Amino acid sequence: MYKTYNHKAVEASNDTLNNILDLIVEGTWDWNRNTGHVDRSPGWYRMLGYEVGIFLKDVFTWENIIHQDDYSRVMENFELYTSGRIDKYCIEYRCKQANDEYLWIVDRGKALEYNPDGSVARMIGAHQNIHAQKVAQNELIEQNRLLKKGNVTLEDKITKKANELEKKNQELKEKISEVEHASNTDALTDIANRRKLEIELAKEILRSNRYNHPLSLTMFDIDNFKHVNDTLGHKAGDIVLKTICKLVSKHLREIDLFARWGGEEFVILFPNLPLENALIVAEKLRILINECEIQLGLFVTCSFGVTEYCSGDTIEELFLRMDKSLYHVKENGKNRVES
Ligand code: GH3
Ligand code: MG
Ligand code: MG
Repeated sequence: MYKTYNHKAVEASNDTLNNILDLIVEGTWDWNRNTGHVDRSPGWYRMLGYEVGIFLKDVFTWENIIHQDDYSRVMENFELYTSGRIDKYCIEYRCKQANDEYLWIVDRGKALEYNPDGSVARMIGAHQNIHAQKVAQNELIEQNRLLKKGNVTLEDKITKKANELEKKNQELKEKISEVEHASNTDALTDIANRRKLEIELAKEILRSNRYNHPLSLTMFDIDNFKHVNDTLGHKAGDIVLKTICKLVSKHLREIDLFARWGGEEFVILFPNLPLENALIVAEKLRILINECEIQLGLFVTCSFGVTEYCSGDTIEELFLRMDKSLYHVKENGKNRVES
């Protein structure tokens, strides 16, 4: 068998061993538990920057250089091993160097001899400098922590901003809808205003042409309304306007458009309704208004002009016809429907 060494004396083999240890690990220790004596290799002193052999050869030398934040962890691990509760002794901790700075090392040990009562009699070990890896590792951990924290903060910020934006959008939508409602609605009666009617009429004319559907309209005007204002006051006049609007609105289809044309004049659009039917509806509304007691003893009547859209009609022509019918009713006793 090939042999690397062939020492004649124990001293020579010890010398080789010590030199090899000096080459492969930073420092070794050899603890005799029964005497309390600890031998440390020159490398151990060199690793920490101390003059070789400067310390007493006992365990207190070791305990005194352990970083106070690592001390209890190191002692606990040591007791676990020497009492046989763990079977490997390997631990990383910081040791104080000659320049007062701390060095990360890994400490590996092994019990070699035991007393008859089973307690450890001798233990040897080796220290290795792992400072560079440890510092790099700690930096990575810290960077990772900061990164995670940064990401969380960023996510929080984005979520918060998104929520704020969502809220602002909602507020904006509500504002738009408010403005839209206001620009299309008559403030007193809460029905459509003239502007809305003109927009919808233009659309309905296009639709009527497209599908060849009938389209009818009526314009009605409160009879002798000036008299109501003059005798009962403007406030009573307003109540009349509001009451009539509520009443009429209740009796229209979803697709009809009821608008205040101005003053005490109103227009109703009847999409997809021929003249005969529009006349029936107008007559029904006339009677409803007639029979409605607005205030104690206060009744009003209305005059209606009805017309149907004919293909090619301009809006002006349409209104002219409707106006004429209404004028005719007014001239001939009021409170009637004519086309
Ligand atoms: P006719 O039967 O011919 O329609 O007579 P009339 O008195 O109803 O018509 P006229 O045009 O002479 O008077 C309309 C009145 O309507 C005059 C005006 O003060 C009143 N009026 C218009 N808008 C309002 C309103 O918003 N509130 C009140 N209270 N009165 C209004
Ligand atoms: Mg009137
Ligand atoms: Mg009028």
